[in-house]
Amino acid sequence: HSRKQLNRKNPEDVVRRYTEKIKTAPDEDCTICMERLATASGYEGVLSYKGIKPELVGKLGKCGHMYHLLCLVAMYKNGNKDGSLQCPTCKAIYGEKTGTQPPGKMEYHVIPHSLPGCSDTKTIRIVYDIPAGIQTTEHPNPGKKYSARGFPRHCYLPDNEKSRKVLKLLIMAWDRRLIFTIGTSSTTGETDTVVWNEIHHKTEFGSNLTGHGYPDPNYLDNVMRELAAQGIGEDNLKD
Ligand code: NAD
Ligand code: ZN
Ligand code: ZN
Repeated sequence: HSRKQLNRKNPEDVVRRYTEKIKTAPDEDCTICMERLATASGYEGVLSYKGIKPELVGKLGKCGHMYHLLCLVAMYKNGNKDGSLQCPTCKAIYGEKTGTQPPGKMEYHVIPHSLPGCSDTKTIRIVYDIPAGIQTTEHPNPGKKYSARGFPRHCYLPDNEKSRKVLKLLIMAWDRRLIFTIGTSSTTGETDTVVWNEIHHKTEFGSNLTGHGYPDPNYLDNVMRELAAQGIGEDNLKD
């Protein structure tokens, strides 16, 4: 009766939750450590876990990709340890992926103007506001300041049914802290600053000088694909 309670975020428990044990490892490489699956994990001696022998191999449930369990533990410990796993080969997500977006606020409202290519349609404007602050352990340089440039940032969607679905998904992404992250801006080269995180937004209203404007007939489909890659899709929408 002294069994350790299962911990939602404990590395060993997370890796076991999403894998099945493989008795006879196939003759393939583990793409995390680059050793053969049939031999011990490259993390043997580097990382030790009581319950996880370096020879153990697991298969991820949905996608079936196989790795040493110890390698999955190492990968998980390298990330933000939110209780989820992402297959490094095919990017399938297990559990609920969250990010490291710093505190701030997201608002939206409808404005009575049309975007280029969307005449007769009003516009949804999303406003993200994030102040500068101090990095925590989930960020690249804990304890160091981060800057926040160009906030509030304004983003635009044509006010139609599909966009309202996208807006709900963006709100979910915001709540899971996936819209921004702290890193190096590829535009300015500044380090330790708040940057967009793989979910593209349209920040230009009446023109398209930056490429982040309209018209762009594929934008809503593209951003839905980017959201899905972060584990956010219509199947999460409960209304
Ligand atoms: P980044 O440059 O590291 O790029 C990350 C992603 O954001 C990339 O996918 C990129 O394509 C996209 N992106 C780049 N510029 C964008 C824009 N104008 N609108 C929408 N997406 C954009 O990310 P970052 O440093 O967060 O973004 C740079 C943008 O941030 C600048 O273009 C500007 O809009 C804003 N900014 C403003 C100031 C300011 O002082 N006003 C300073 C720095 C950044
Ligand atoms: Zn391995
Ligand atoms: Zn996979």
